[in-house]
Amino acid sequence: MRPTVDYIERKFDEFNSLCFGSRLLKPLFRVTNARSYLGKMVCRSDADGSRTFELLVSRAADRSENVVEDTVLHEMIHYYILYYRIPDRSAHGPVFRSMMDGINRSFGRGITISYKAGEAEQSADRDKRRHLLCAVRLADGRTGVIVSAGTRLLQLWDAVMQERSISVGVWLLSYNPFFNRFPRSRVLKMYRLAPEELRKELAGARRLERQGSSVRVGAKISNAVFPD
Ligand SMILES: [Zn+2]
Repeated sequence: MRPTVDYIERKFDEFNSLCFGSRLLKPLFRVTNARSYLGKMVCRSDADGSRTFELLVSRAADRSENVVEDTVLHEMIHYYILYYRIPDRSAHGPVFRSMMDGINRSFGRGITISYKAGEAEQSADRDKRRHLLCAVRLADGRTGVIVSAGTRLLQLWDAVMQERSISVGVWLLSYNPFFNRFPRSRVLKMYRLAPEELRKELAGARRLERQGSSVRVGAKISNAVFPD
């Protein structure tokens, strides 16, 4: 079959109530003739922070109804994760996989991850936004980031210094869209990231330097995020 917009929308409604507890708002729908993907979830962010989602399904090839349905489900999992801003390690990270496995098991589906070049880039929110981050190493050696709400920087800065379980905290400014996936916190909340991920994603970030109640942007960090 070659799906139409009406068909995609009908499937979306059906799966939303069946598999997602009707917790997804209806996005925009589009069918395309792309050969580079089966389906794609696109998220656009406006300057005011509001987001528009669009579910794209390709009808470039004649596919079985099962494949089209699983494509819609696959994109709906992306949508759910984006919509609720659930941090995951990658486009098809552990959160994606566990939702996929759950739906496959409960509803006898065959959703797969067939990685298409560039899909990770396309499905994620790639807008450049300012992130105020604290790269953190805990006393037990675990590492991660705290993503500060803009209005809470000084409070969180103090809290990091006072928190005994944190052995090192390095405050940084980054525009890397990788960090778009983490909700900004008003409280101390660390998202775990491995040291090599931190090094990779924070390359080029600038150090934040605080004097009293003023913070200024300092030099780019060198290779190592944490001083050793
Ligand atoms: Zn995907």
